[in-house]
This record gives sequence, C-alpha cells and structure tokens, in this order.
Amino acid sequence: MASVRPRVAVVGAGPSGLYAAAALVASGVAVDVDVLDRLPAPYGLVRYGVAPDHVKMKSVIRVLGRPFGPGEVRFLGGVRIGEGDGAVPLHVLRTHYTAVVHATGSAIDRRLGIPGEDLPGSVGSGEVVGWYCGHPDHCTAPLLDTVAVAVVGAGNVALDLARVLARTADELVPTDVPDTALDALRSSAVRDVHVLIRRGPQHVKFTPVELRQLGDLADAEVVVHDDGVLATAVPDEVTDRRERHNLEIITDWARARPGTAARRIHLRFFRSPVRILGRDRVTGVVVERTALTPDGRVVGTGEEETLHVGLVVRAVGYTAEPIPGLPFDARTGTVPNEAGRVVDAAGAPVPGEYVTGWIRRGPTGVIGTNKHDAVETAAALLADLPGLPPPAHPDPDDLAHVLDAYGVRPVDWTAWLRLDAEEIRLGEVRGAERVKVAELSAMLAAVHGSSVR
Ligand code: NAP
Repeated sequence: MASVRPRVAVVGAGPSGLYAAAALVASGVAVDVDVLDRLPAPYGLVRYGVAPDHVKMKSVIRVLGRPFGPGEVRFLGGVRIGEGDGAVPLHVLRTHYTAVVHATGSAIDRRLGIPGEDLPGSVGSGEVVGWYCGHPDHCTAPLLDTVAVAVVGAGNVALDLARVLARTADELVPTDVPDTALDALRSSAVRDVHVLIRRGPQHVKFTPVELRQLGDLADAEVVVHDDGVLATAVPDEVTDRRERHNLEIITDWARARPGTAARRIHLRFFRSPVRILGRDRVTGVVVERTALTPDGRVVGTGEEETLHVGLVVRAVGYTAEPIPGLPFDARTGTVPNEAGRVVDAAGAPVPGEYVTGWIRRGPTGVIGTNKHDAVETAAALLADLPGLPPPAHPDPDDLAHVLDAYGVRPVDWTAWLRLDAEEIRLGEVRGAERVKVAELSAMLAAVHGSSVR
C-alpha cells in the first residue's frame, strides 16, 4: 500500500500561521498544508490589527499570500476550530491531519481591574482597533461624541490609537479604513487624547519610528506632561538605543512652543488610572500619580487627579483564550511548549500539536518576529513527522463532508481573491489602495460558490 502523504493543518491565517505554512512548504518535505481561519479573509492582524494609516506595513500581505499558489497550500476561510455552534472540535480536525499548528494569537484585551471598567465608553484596544480596521466582530463605533479621550498604556497599540483618533478624516481617506469608520471619525468631537503612561519617558515600550509619527499629523500636536522628569533625563547618558531615541523625541516635543492645532495628544507620564467615573457612561477617570521603586516596580503615590473624558481605551496588552483540548498557562496567556512543540503538565510533548506566534510566546514583537518563531516550529514538526501516525481520514473529501455536517461552508482562495479584487476596485474609486468591504460575509456569499476542494 502506498504511504499516505502527511497532512498539516495550520489554524490561523495571520502572519504567524502564514509564515509557518511558508516554512513547511519551503522545506522541500512532501507534505500537504491547509490553512484554516475562522474569518473568511486571510492575514489576521495585518488586515485587522495594523493601523490603516500604516499602509506600507500592510504590504507584507504580498509576501504572506505567496504559499497559496495553485496546488500548494489550501485556504479554508470561515472555519472555526473549537467549541460551540458551528465550530469544528479539535479532536475531529485531528483525525484528518497528521499534525496541527495553532497560530491563533492573543485576541483578548487585558483588563485594568479597576472600578468603572465595564461602563459604556470604557473599552479595550481590540474593540477600537478592530472597528477602524473593519473586523467583522467589531462593528460598533466607540463613543466619539466626547472632546476628551484617555488611552491607557505606553506600547505601540496606544500610539496607533492616539494617532488614528487625532488624524483628520482627509488623512485617512487614502487608507483602507472602512467607509463607516471614516464617516464616524470625520464627525468625531475628539480634540484631546490623553495617553496615560505609568512609567517615565525613558521606559515607554514605544518604538521610536512609531513614536515620531505622532509629531507628523496634519492638524494635531503633542503636549508633554513630564512633571519635570525630562530636566534630569539626559539622552546621551542612556545606553539603550531605543530608549535614547524615545527620550530624544519626547525631549524635543517638551521644548517646543505650544501650537494652534485643532487636536492635541497629551503624553502624561507617571500616571495610572485607578477609577473610571460615570453612571450611564464614562464621564471621567481618576488618575493616580505613580513612582518607580529602585527595582523598577510601579507604585502609587496616593496623589490623585480627575480627567474629564468620555471614552477610556485600555491598551495594556492582550491575552489569549485557552484552546479547548490543549494545555494553557493563564498567567502568560500561552500554550506551554518547547520550540513550538506543545507540552503537557509533565513537560512531555503532546504528539502532533504545535504552536507559533503570540499563542506560543505571548503578545510581543513586530510582524517579522513571527517568522523566526514559525521557522522554528516548522522545523520541530518536520523533525517529528516520521514518528507521527497518519491521520485516520486522510482524504480531503472526508474533511469536506465533515465541515458540511457542521454547517461550515469554507471560503477557498479563489473566492477570497474575488473579494480582494472587489476591495481594490472600491479603493480605487476612493483614491486608496483598497477599502475594506464592510459587508464582508454578504459579499463572500455573493462571490463564492466553491466547495472545499
Ligand atoms: P505592550 O507593548 O506590551 O505595551 C503595553 C503597555 O501597557 C505598557 O506600556 C505597559 O506598561 C502598560 N500597562 C500594562 N498594564 C498596565 C496597567 N495596569 N496600567 C497602566 N499601564 C499598563 O503591548 P501593545 O501595545 O498591546 O503591543 C503588543 C505588541 O504588538 C508589542 O510588541 C508591539 O510592539 C506590537 N505592535 C507593533 C506595532 C508596530 O510595529 N507599529 C503596532 C502595534 C503593536 P509597563 O511597561 O509598565 O508594563
């Protein structure tokens, strides 16, 4: 009997999953690879997380889409692996594949754990970023009928939020922001964006290129509230390159004269929110002044002030949902693994299960960081392949029948390309490279008529 060609499912069509698929194909090992995603569209965070005004960064799509050549990697969009209605359980998927690579990322906003956090107008960054990126799960606009907004956190997501909220609508027209979001941002009342940073200017997690962009907006200026810290922080004495550049940029802004721009981005250092105020919606946030201990911990000083804001967006990092059927470390929001091999509580490998990207290492790093991760995971999988048993149901037709039984009608690569072409056509009308089609599911229903194969 001819030996069955190994089959690998990559769950998650974001950068980490697609880099893993590419690494598997590039290895030259005879293996069939399917990439599944719960959404009908590929590219994950590149499509739904990278800010729309970072047009160049999104061009990585051209690289990420390469494995989907004819006869190489298959795309099965709109297929959710997990529990609940319409989801295909992992143990069922496993019977169709020799191995599974999980690349599902970290989709849950971390919480602050402070009173008032559940009021309308208090939201996680994922909701707002998802909204202006056209994510089908996040169609509700944030409350932009307010003059002042607080963004909590000093990472690149906080920068993205501050920048998009402070941009003019005209600056966003050439981007792929959905029309609905563009309209809401055009009529936004927001004038002051307060970025609440619990450490000092030297200890922000921003990358300098992204930080510098805050100073290049058409009608917004940066206002630095440093409590005099910058007077004693000398960039030349800082050895870490990223920290020194950040410090130089912030110092330049602090020295600049106030301008007359319509919008302001306030960088408020040594400030941490302790209470969100309001009855029916957010009306303010109580902020405590913080200090650093000699070992670098953040502590409250007890000194409080109130900022009158109608929207609080927390950009304090992400965590992940556990993957049913796999071990999970709730503290780090990751699946325990060694070089990408999933390991159980005793540290023994779970045969045929692999992870890559944020679900493997936590929500850190830029898009390119996922490539190294994926190459390592793919290498581990390929090394294990000879010892893994073949799937019980290796025929792709069997998978098609199972998906059908679960009421899942996958979107294949051809159908996706048709939608992509439509987005580009609509983008050309607006003067952008592409525009997100808001009615994604309806569009797909109209454009695709293909089965799994
Ligand atoms: P991040 O870089 O980990 O930043 C999280 C920020 O939240 C930190 O400043 C952290 O402060 C702060 N924070 C955490 N808990 C807090 C609390 N309870 N109160 C106040 N502040 C709190 O996370 P991220 O911004 O979500 O970004 C995730 C990853 O994606 C990062 O690697 C980032 O570089 C990347 N990313 C890149 C780009 C880009 O390249 N353009 C864009 C977006 C995201 P402490 O430092 O004090 O903990």
